[in-house]
Amino acid sequence: MLDHSYIKKLAEEVGFDLCGLAPCHHLEEAEVRFREWIARGYQSSLGYLERHTEKRFDPRLLVEGARTAVVCAVGYKNRMSDGYPAGHCTKVASYACAEDYHTSVRKMLQQMLDTLRSEYPTLRGRAFVDTAPLTEKLLAREAGLGWIGRQSLLVTPTLGSYLVLGELILTDEADRYDRPFAESRCGTCRACVEGCPTGAVMPGRGIDTARCISCHTIEREPAATIDLDGWIFGCDACQSCCPWNRRAPQHRNRAFDPVFDPLGMDAAAWFRLDEAEFERLCGRTPLTRSGLERIRGNIVREE
Ligand code: SF4
Ligand code: SF4
Repeated sequence: MLDHSYIKKLAEEVGFDLCGLAPCHHLEEAEVRFREWIARGYQSSLGYLERHTEKRFDPRLLVEGARTAVVCAVGYKNRMSDGYPAGHCTKVASYACAEDYHTSVRKMLQQMLDTLRSEYPTLRGRAFVDTAPLTEKLLAREAGLGWIGRQSLLVTPTLGSYLVLGELILTDEADRYDRPFAESRCGTCRACVEGCPTGAVMPGRGIDTARCISCHTIEREPAATIDLDGWIFGCDACQSCCPWNRRAPQHRNRAFDPVFDPLGMDAAAWFRLDEAEFERLCGRTPLTRSGLERIRGNIVREE
């Protein structure tokens, strides 16, 4: 049987700020709501969201015999997270200024999994970082980490929403589980609904991806009708306005130190870069997912 306290200590040792444990089961209600969201077409061209819906809401379909979800979070808030000065037209989402979290968080989870396997030799499990169809935010709420904000992100009382999640889905039961985070602490706040430049945060919670700048700068070709509001990779507007993020501390895990400074770069600086310089400056960051040409395309749309 997995030791709840030991796992939390291990998570802290490898560099996570938060960790919670939840039993694996089918999140039926959430699946119904997600299917309704898809039926209304809010996923727009992000077709991958329509696939593997059953797996998304039941970790036991991803790892046979899964009993325990260990949900870990690490904060990445940095000086870009509070928002850019007015008029800055080459804004980069703050998470993207550091090393790609897929790399850093996977390393941390793997370290935990290796240690757990040596402690519990019959244990099986898998690490997940935003790659498999797994409803991470809802699992995090089940594991007591926080609630789902109006902007559809996980918000935690200590770190706000500037965090990255990673999960271990394990086959053993734990001696204790955390209580799900039952309430929403958004209260009457609507800052993210009002702060979204394109009106993509829907009043009833959820994002219309067809209007979301983050999707338009990264995951899909930008539609001519979408004003990118100076963002060239991602968008933090519905997070920088959140009161829970204002009071959140700066990141403490050095893996999330920014590796380049978008505040010190204007459009001309981006256009002066050649591919080799771009690789040297941003090669370890998620910006390479888009590439220099796409990023320049987003700048051109702003001019
Ligand atoms: S990421 Fe930007 S565009 Fe998308 S919902 Fe948030 S504020 Fe709106
Ligand atoms: S900005 Fe306000 S409504 Fe939006 S997630 Fe934060 S607390 Fe909730």
